[in-house]
Amino acid sequence: MRTFVYTSHPSRVVFGSGTVGRLREEVERLGRSRVLLLSSPPLAEASARVREVLGDAVVAEFDGAAMHTPVEVTERALAVLREASADCLVAVGGGSTTGLSKALALRTDLPQVILPTTYAGSEVTPVLGETRDGRKITQSLPAVLPETVVYDVDFTLSLPLAMSVTSGVNALAHAVEALYSADANPVTDRQALDAVSAIAGALPRLAADPADPDARADLLYAAWLAGTCLATVGMGLHHKLCHTLGGSFDLPHAETHTVVLPYAMAYNAPAVPDVMRRIAEALGVPDAPAGVHDLVASLGGPTSLRDLGMPEDGLARAAGLAASTPYPNPREVTAEGIATLLSDAWHGRRPT
Ligand code: NAD
Repeated sequence: MRTFVYTSHPSRVVFGSGTVGRLREEVERLGRSRVLLLSSPPLAEASARVREVLGDAVVAEFDGAAMHTPVEVTERALAVLREASADCLVAVGGGSTTGLSKALALRTDLPQVILPTTYAGSEVTPVLGETRDGRKITQSLPAVLPETVVYDVDFTLSLPLAMSVTSGVNALAHAVEALYSADANPVTDRQALDAVSAIAGALPRLAADPADPDARADLLYAAWLAGTCLATVGMGLHHKLCHTLGGSFDLPHAETHTVVLPYAMAYNAPAVPDVMRRIAEALGVPDAPAGVHDLVASLGGPTSLRDLGMPEDGLARAAGLAASTPYPNPREVTAEGIATLLSDAWHGRRPT
């Protein structure tokens, strides 16, 4: 018998193709009529479509969302929000735009409707990481959880293949770490394993045809499941390492997840052989860490920290930082073990 605690995070999810058409009714369902539309310049076409659907309900726009949610950007958006007396946030974009929406919700308690355009999964988590004076501070609180998520597969078609691969592996990392989390439970396990097999199935189809709507739909569905895992259970070594590398060496978010995941899995594998067997089965490969490495390599994704611009002489500092604070992980985290892991990841050595 398994003993567990399971806490769900309430959010309404609308999923499909053309679902943007339901946006006005979703805003009205929240009893709101004055929208601040959040986006970023690469998503100008998507936000034009949102504007078309919402019509005069859009009372203001802000397209300056930036990676890691800098507070200066939030403060500028907050001024726009207050000037227009907006009563609802609608965000179209990836984790950065969702982060801005959450930061505004934290300060105003306004409801949020998110249209995700990547596979980061932030839209279903109560987690917000904000950057102030170069330091990222992460909080988890119900006030930042978006009320409604409108997944429209059509909005993901423009995500370039390279970003689709790294963002898809970012989602895979949420699912993998959920399976060996200290809070693992049967519901999250099922969601995580479904996400793993959907991601492994969809990414090669997407590489063959980046506009394949079924592959895009499978990947977006998996991103939702994986995001739900991230929201529900604590993450381990992999997320800690990516947080350290992103924060201290300014490495890009999804790319860092893509490089580090096979190495974090190989490090943890001896402590959780059964979990790795289940992941390998879901991936359809004999060995889970090597299978993830090979999948990324076959898709042309980044496989080494060197490729991401990580300086080799920063590895020792990164290992020290990652091992300095204790956190739940199936295998004991030692500075020596992490140094070996990071060296393998820097060189891009295939895990064995
Ligand atoms: P992102 O939101 O920064 O997007 C990357 C780039 O892709 C941006 O320039 C964006 O405009 C562009 N883009 C996004 N979707 C596009 C599309 N469909 N077509 C063309 N261009 C598109 O990247 P991300 O990886 O989604 O998010 C990363 C951020 O999210 C990080 O700050 C990370 O910390 C945060 N995050 C938070 C959580 C959480 O639960 N709080 C979870 C995952 C990620």
